[in-house]
Amino acid sequence: MIPMVDLRIQYRQIKAEIEQDLHQVLESAHFILGPNVHAFEEEAASYLGARYAIGCASGTDALQLALAAAGIGEGDEVITTPFTFIATAEAICYLGAKPVFVDIDPHTFNLDPGLVETAITERTRAILPVHLFGQPADMGPLLELARRHHLRVIEDCAQSFGASIGGRFTGTFGDAGCFSFFPSKNLGCFGDGGMITTNSEELAARLKMLRNHGSRERYHHSIIGYNSRLDEIQAVILRAKLKRITAYNEGRRAAAHTYSRRLAELPGITPPHEDGRGIHVYHQYTLLTNRRGGIMQALSDAGISSAIYYPIPLHRQEVFAQRYRNLSLPVSESVAERCLSLPIYPELESEQIHTIVDVIKAHVTA
Ligand SMILES: *Cc1c(COP(=O)(O)O)cnc(C)c1O
Repeated sequence: MIPMVDLRIQYRQIKAEIEQDLHQVLESAHFILGPNVHAFEEEAASYLGARYAIGCASGTDALQLALAAAGIGEGDEVITTPFTFIATAEAICYLGAKPVFVDIDPHTFNLDPGLVETAITERTRAILPVHLFGQPADMGPLLELARRHHLRVIEDCAQSFGASIGGRFTGTFGDAGCFSFFPSKNLGCFGDGGMITTNSEELAARLKMLRNHGSRERYHHSIIGYNSRLDEIQAVILRAKLKRITAYNEGRRAAAHTYSRRLAELPGITPPHEDGRGIHVYHQYTLLTNRRGGIMQALSDAGISSAIYYPIPLHRQEVFAQRYRNLSLPVSESVAERCLSLPIYPELESEQIHTIVDVIKAHVTA
């Protein structure tokens, strides 16, 4: 059996190291926003090269808090991609703003900057690119458009911890970067968790208030905030995994490159495209094929997991379908019909990758 991801391996690696610290948290009875959270925030900010990192309760909350801190509200428009996890658009809706979906690049599956400008209206306030599957979005032209039109840029980095462009990490290009520590993400904890990075002192101050009931000082509330905090137990786990994140991401890249070398020889398979602009950290290894159903069946028969990220672009989801019925985004729609994600995690072995590719090869060359 080969699963999409095996989280038990990393647990065994850090088990001895975290036991003492977890015990200490339980003994201290300081569970929320304590010394481990503050230390993790400093360590994560330092790793990523951001001035500030603010822990919160999930990646979804990170997006909501960042949009709120940036002043996005009722009636505002936020340009984003339809080929992403629903949380990207949900966060925009929570604030009463409108997601404006723009089509993606057919090779990288990221927002196509060439299509963004025509989507800008008087109500546009922000661009929300997603670094999908761990590949950095094309930030240069997006930042340039944002500068010219006075828009905020909020990066969805839920899948891209450690991805970079020109040596600079995702989450440090826009006004804020939003991270998820959901267990299966590149840097994952043992429950829900999230974080926002920013270089703006003003945004950082607002984010710290927003995550904690609009309060700077206990029982003094200046704005309507949220309850969205990171807890000490998750921070202990994140500190241990952050020390290893470079190796984890290198493991993912090595696995991806082994896949791509072998899959490139096969008919009817387009391996993921690395655009060469940055470092792709392969949260997912996602190829394109017209024979998805058959390949998934063959893999399943061989005890190998595979998955479709994502089968339905957001403008075609039931929740949005009526509102966007006249919107056609052909690249997203076509990619959603042909994408297939294979197992990937840092510890996936070459031998397992060869087994997986052999099954696909037998199917497509039969
Ligand atoms: C996982 C994910 C989120 C949401 O993160 P949670 O921690 O699960 O709330 C947002 N955007 C993208 C692209 C994601 O993959």
